[in-house]
Amino acid sequence: MEFEGQYRLAQSPKYDCLLFDLDDTLYPFSSGISAHCTMNIEDYMLEKLQIEKENIPDISNILYKHYGTTMAGLRAIGYKFDYDEYHSFVHGRLPYDKLKPDLVLRHLLLSLPIRKVIFTNGDKIHAAKVLNRMGLEGCFEGIICFETLNPPEDSSFSEDEIAETEIFDILGHFSRADANVELPKSPLLCKPSEDAMIQALKIANIDPQRTIFFDDSIRNIAAGKRIGLHTVLVGKSSRIKGADQALESIHNIKEALPELWEEAEKSEEILYSGKVSIETSVTA
Ligand SMILES: [Mg+2]
Repeated sequence: MEFEGQYRLAQSPKYDCLLFDLDDTLYPFSSGISAHCTMNIEDYMLEKLQIEKENIPDISNILYKHYGTTMAGLRAIGYKFDYDEYHSFVHGRLPYDKLKPDLVLRHLLLSLPIRKVIFTNGDKIHAAKVLNRMGLEGCFEGIICFETLNPPEDSSFSEDEIAETEIFDILGHFSRADANVELPKSPLLCKPSEDAMIQALKIANIDPQRTIFFDDSIRNIAAGKRIGLHTVLVGKSSRIKGADQALESIHNIKEALPELWEEAEKSEEILYSGKVSIETSVTA
């Protein structure tokens, strides 16, 4: 029995998938990309949605905090806009040249024969640009992105629909101490909503119990833990509640999780010895 247990262990490693957030996880926050993104979102709110300038930082923060992304929050409180247009405005002007090829990370990822998937709230064009700038093409089996969870046909609004828009007063809501009105729900799915995360895993056929989830966001990590993922907080050196581990940089992945490489070597040995015996039997 004991032997059988060992055999099973060797045959099936503990983890069979690594799930990575993109922004501020595969590259550091210090790149400045996030700060630019925030600026572009605020410009969009001003120029395209005509929100009063002085209220924009507060509204943007509140929406980000309560809905996962400012975009999901803007939709929740009633703004109607084309998602592709939003993404090209917010991401299209990012200084992608700040991202450089990361050969260290590329080598680390390619040296692990285990399934790797990106899970980002960003859109697919942004994800492709980041991976291209970082020289990480071919390192991931797939990308779960905005479009995966929010099909594009949901995003076109007629002028009449836009004109009828009634906006929920989110600043007013939070300025009233006795506010007991429920916040409106967003039609958009994104992290850290557990429903969104469960749906993403289902679409990508990922078993949370056998997956390690890397993200720089404390709330995404906490949600990941609640749905059963093994969680690694990236960009911080100290663990928080919900994080099984913390990494200062994604480059430290091998030091933090040496068992992944050990498992890979073991399964390579099994494959190799299996191959030899087949060849031997064919020769014989
Ligand atoms: Mg992130």
